[in-house]
Amino acid sequence: MKSIIVMLGPPGAGKGTQAKVLAEKLALPHVSSGDLFRDNLKAQTELGKLAQSYMDRGELVPDDVTIAMVRDRLEKADTAQGAVLDGFPRTPPQASALDAMLAELGGEVKAVPYISVPSEVLVERLGGRWSCRAQGHVFHEKYNPPRVPGKCDFDGSELYQRDDDRLTTVERRIRVYVDQTAPLIDYYRERGLLMEIDGTKPIEQVSQQLLQAVA
Ligand code: ADP
Ligand code: ADP
Repeated sequence: MKSIIVMLGPPGAGKGTQAKVLAEKLALPHVSSGDLFRDNLKAQTELGKLAQSYMDRGELVPDDVTIAMVRDRLEKADTAQGAVLDGFPRTPPQASALDAMLAELGGEVKAVPYISVPSEVLVERLGGRWSCRAQGHVFHEKYNPPRVPGKCDFDGSELYQRDDDRLTTVERRIRVYVDQTAPLIDYYRERGLLMEIDGTKPIEQVSQQLLQAVA
């Protein structure tokens, strides 16, 4: 039986940062749809090439391919007990598809931490984000700097700034979030699963709120 935690929140809210903390605590894999697309891009798969044009523009990759990719991941043995989903679902059809696939594979959404952060903060967070090439660890040049600049604390791989973290693309991504993803707040609230977390606090305090809410 899979226990699924869905991390919800705008781009830059801290979903990835907190998903890593939660995944370790619950001993579940961290499944990031953005990382899965970027892995495909690195490997130059057909899926990666298709996704790239959408990602570059800050738009969502079409639901059908996104759903198929996540389903594949949730069929892997390491997710038998569940997963911390980060970046999926991002549209109402993806949320329904997740419910349907869990009914089939055996599992359910247990909790949906919603990390809320106002837009003006997001721009600064994403502008200073440095991501690791190997495993998607993230740092911030001001709020969470790596011990050695340009190098991941956890796996030593190179840190880089994502092309889609540039201001114009960030603004587009925030608009896309408001239009297409924010409706999921009500979707999960109606199901009694939503846990609102104040994402403006420092990283450790957000982790504490989150662990209290989900434990
Ligand atoms: P998301 O996955 O929601 O896009 P990330 O976890 O990648 O967000 O965080 C975006 C950026 O903000 C990263 O540079 C990260 O280090 C930084 N960050 C995350 N949480 C906080 C926080 N609570 N306070 C300040 N900076 C944060
Ligand atoms: P963020 O850290 O800002 O939350 P992600 O790494 O989750 O960003 O996503 C980067 C890009 O990958 C998105 O802008 C979108 O193009 C694509 N993407 C990721 N997850 C999804 C999804 N569930 N549905 C459609 N597109 C997605």
